[in-house]
Amino acid sequence: MKTWDVIIIGGGIIGLSLSLALRKRGGSVLVVERGEPGREASHAAGGMLVDCPLETPPPLQSLATASARLYPEFAHEIQIESGMTVDLRDFGTIAFPPQEHIHEHPGFTAANLSPTALSEREPALADSTHPAFYLKERSVDPRALTAATAKAAKKQNVDFSSGDAVTSVDLSEGRATGVTTTKTSFLASKIVNCAGCWSGQISPSRLPTRPVKGQMLCLVMNPRNLLKHVIRTPDVYLIPRSDGRLLVGATVEEAGFDKRTDPDTIQRLHRAALKIVPKLADAKIIEDWAGLRPGTPDNLPILGATEIPGYYVATGHFRDGILLAPITAQVMADVIEGRKPEYDLLPFSPSRF
Ligand SMILES: Cc1cc2nc3c(=O)[nH]c(=O)nc-3n(C[C@H](O)[C@H](O)[C@H](O)COP(=O)(O)OP(=O)(O)OC[C@H]3O[C@@H](n4cnc5c(N)ncnc54)[C@H](O)[C@@H]3O)c2cc1C
Repeated sequence: MKTWDVIIIGGGIIGLSLSLALRKRGGSVLVVERGEPGREASHAAGGMLVDCPLETPPPLQSLATASARLYPEFAHEIQIESGMTVDLRDFGTIAFPPQEHIHEHPGFTAANLSPTALSEREPALADSTHPAFYLKERSVDPRALTAATAKAAKKQNVDFSSGDAVTSVDLSEGRATGVTTTKTSFLASKIVNCAGCWSGQISPSRLPTRPVKGQMLCLVMNPRNLLKHVIRTPDVYLIPRSDGRLLVGATVEEAGFDKRTDPDTIQRLHRAALKIVPKLADAKIIEDWAGLRPGTPDNLPILGATEIPGYYVATGHFRDGILLAPITAQVMADVIEGRKPEYDLLPFSPSRF
């Protein structure tokens, strides 16, 4: 029976980018995905690469900054290997943070965009008098990114099993030896659970992941470059894509494993977008959807080795999994190879729960 060095459970952006990192270091890798790779949270995401002390939880700041820095190279390599584009945009973010966040962060006491500068940068904004901050952040198209990462992984000879869920990690004499799925089993000496908000459903290790629902909609801008920057307000965010789409998001709901959208909620998001950019009144809604973020009790990811030798976890990336994919792939590949990662992973240890 064929064996692999590493089996990755879950083909979202976290599992896919880790599979690529491990292949590049020479290991054989199998990704076992219960559906199609990249169709869950990683498909639903907005793709803001948020790296801002006003919003990033302090224990996550160094990983967030490191990952944001890795993005141009990460995206470039994936684009070259896949022959696809991922729409990495570098126009920055205009943020209208809640006042209470500003007071908590001395570095943000004064807005760094005057009303004139704001209306020059984004003439379509209805009101340029609120304190606004320009942040040097990028955005990416998560659907394009996951599709391209899956293609790049296949080109690098990562193996895939799709359409069959892992039910358990198999153990022999206390060590991980493979996985059992609903139809078959696969062998490997190292297993990584990257199953997003479903991670806790795989036995034996009961990880405290939970789904945190996010609803979004997509408009088509007219003209297609009506907005250039990502716009973030306390009520809504707007993410322009280079092809003229504009994503409007997102709710943060404790609603269990429910991916239905609610028309009233979508309307509310739509109205909030129109209030900021009245010219969007002409823009057609082409899609709405909901996805399930992988939440954890402390809203921090779970990264590292479990108490079971050979069994690892990279999950719980909550609102930042697209941002954190490059650094997660790097540090997890280090941990799996038995090397000390460049960053302290103690705050993210699986044993903290
Ligand atoms: C509305 C919304 C907006 C977001 N916006 C942003 C953003 O702007 N920026 C950002 O950085 N992040 C954002 N996120 C968060 C980001 O999407 C997630 O953190 C990230 O996608 C998590 O990736 P993942 O690979 O861990 O999970 P997923 O993409 O959910 O992948 C997990 C995979 O595991 C598979 N799986 C589950 N159980 C099993 C099993 N038993 N066997 C085999 N396979 C299994 C699933 O089918 C799935 O494909 C957003 C999320 C949502 C929902």
